[in-house]
Amino acid sequence: MKNMIYDCIVVGAGTGGTTAARTLAIKGHKVLLIDRKKKEVVGDKVCGDAIGKHHFDTLNKLIGLRYPTQDECEANIDGIDVISPDKETILKIQGEGTKGYMINRLKFGQRLLDATIDTGVEFLDKTSVISPIFKGNFINGVLTRSLDSGEKKEIRGQAVIDASGVTAVVRRKLPNHNIERNVKKEDMIVCFREIRDLTREIDDPNFCKIYLTQNIAPGGYVWVFPEGMTRVNVGLGLQNVASNPHPRQQLYESVLSDSLFEGSKVVHKGGGIVPTRRPIWSQVANGLLIVGDAACQVNPIHGGGIGPSMMGGYLAATTIDHAFEKGNLSERGLWEYNVEYMKGYGAKQAGLDLFRLFLQQTPDDELNYGMKHRLLKEDDILSASLGEDLVLNLTEKVKRFFSGIGKLGLLNRLRKISTKMKEIKGLFQNYPSPEQFKAWKSEVESIYKDTWEILG
Ligand SMILES: Cc1cc2nc3c(=O)[nH]c(=O)nc-3n(C[C@H](O)[C@H](O)[C@H](O)COP(=O)(O)OP(=O)(O)OC[C@H]3O[C@@H](n4cnc5c(N)ncnc54)[C@H](O)[C@@H]3O)c2cc1C
Repeated sequence: MKNMIYDCIVVGAGTGGTTAARTLAIKGHKVLLIDRKKKEVVGDKVCGDAIGKHHFDTLNKLIGLRYPTQDECEANIDGIDVISPDKETILKIQGEGTKGYMINRLKFGQRLLDATIDTGVEFLDKTSVISPIFKGNFINGVLTRSLDSGEKKEIRGQAVIDASGVTAVVRRKLPNHNIERNVKKEDMIVCFREIRDLTREIDDPNFCKIYLTQNIAPGGYVWVFPEGMTRVNVGLGLQNVASNPHPRQQLYESVLSDSLFEGSKVVHKGGGIVPTRRPIWSQVANGLLIVGDAACQVNPIHGGGIGPSMMGGYLAATTIDHAFEKGNLSERGLWEYNVEYMKGYGAKQAGLDLFRLFLQQTPDDELNYGMKHRLLKEDDILSASLGEDLVLNLTEKVKRFFSGIGKLGLLNRLRKISTKMKEIKGLFQNYPSPEQFKAWKSEVESIYKDTWEILG
């Protein structure tokens, strides 16, 4: 490895990094993948463990990603129950788009890593990346420290991918640029979750349950996801603001006190942070691309980031391949990655980000009303979660009812937010050229400003 220059160095061997590294190697590039974890535990992560089948449908076609094998799959999922704060309304969301898997993150992660190494990627474990290295205004390597010996090394690569998850070790050390170095705390969800063996069987072992409750999980939600007949992944995520309580304390006091968990045993536990917002403004710089949580490629509503990180990894690798063909690894040469990501999952994320702000600003009693009177119907929620426009159930009857109970404000806010969601999606679907980037960014910012005015 000494003095070796790689085509690309990928920082982080999570779902995003392994997909990027493997795709590059399949296309014939010389790749180094680095992770601070030891090889045997790569993939192990505190997570809700749920992933939609549609992500595999897409990536199977693109790079032959196999569907989860039996030993990687803890349960098959048919749909999601979204439960109102007063628990009186359950929206049962099901269909092809909600089919999915509860995966064993370690086994799945090990499979992704093995498949990556098998394609010829060199893997360096127990090595922490400290910062990017610059040559002029291009990133052309990383400074690393061995976690065994403490030795520091400079490793050179013509391109670098930051797939280091929420730590975003390269992104945070960039000079002033189009890329945001810092993500606001309030755009993060801080979580605590446990995997528990229960003393009795669960009622619906193929349905994930999401409990909306500002009271217990302000700005986030509580989840109970099945991992077989008597095992669940139970967790709580709340908005990362100082006034909020600790998620572990909330989980123990308000969720695990339920009779379902009586006598249950903890199998695995831990905390984590998820960025739940639109993707970062731009995901490229000279010689650099950013993938997965490091680029905020996460669904802002449910925090699912495994699928988008793999799609981000695939698109970043394809872009690098094209950039080598063109002989242009500059920000402009890599811009295609922004355009491709933003017109697909990025646009969906941007729309859902406004809906996330709406939900975070809506008190429990209004959520109860809205859900009870089906302001959004199950099919429409499913379509919106798959990236289609939000369709509201605004019949005269519904309008009269909301007017009668003095909740017209909720109805109007939701109607205005759904218009803003459409507008912002349109902007992301038409992601600009580098020349038009500044003007585009101010248009998006003005939609956020309008959104905050609507939400008061
Ligand atoms: C509690 C919780 C529940 C979640 N539930 C779900 C869910 O149910 N479904 C879903 O789809 N998503 C879920 N997510 C989100 C999902 O886990 C992430 O979006 C996804 O793992 C992102 O993949 P990634 O490759 O970007 O980052 P990661 O999977 O975090 O991988 C980053 C890798 O980079 C390595 N790394 C970090 N810093 C350095 C460094 N300095 N040097 C070298 N290596 C480094 C890490 O060791 C790690 O291996 C959840 C997240 C949390 C925290």
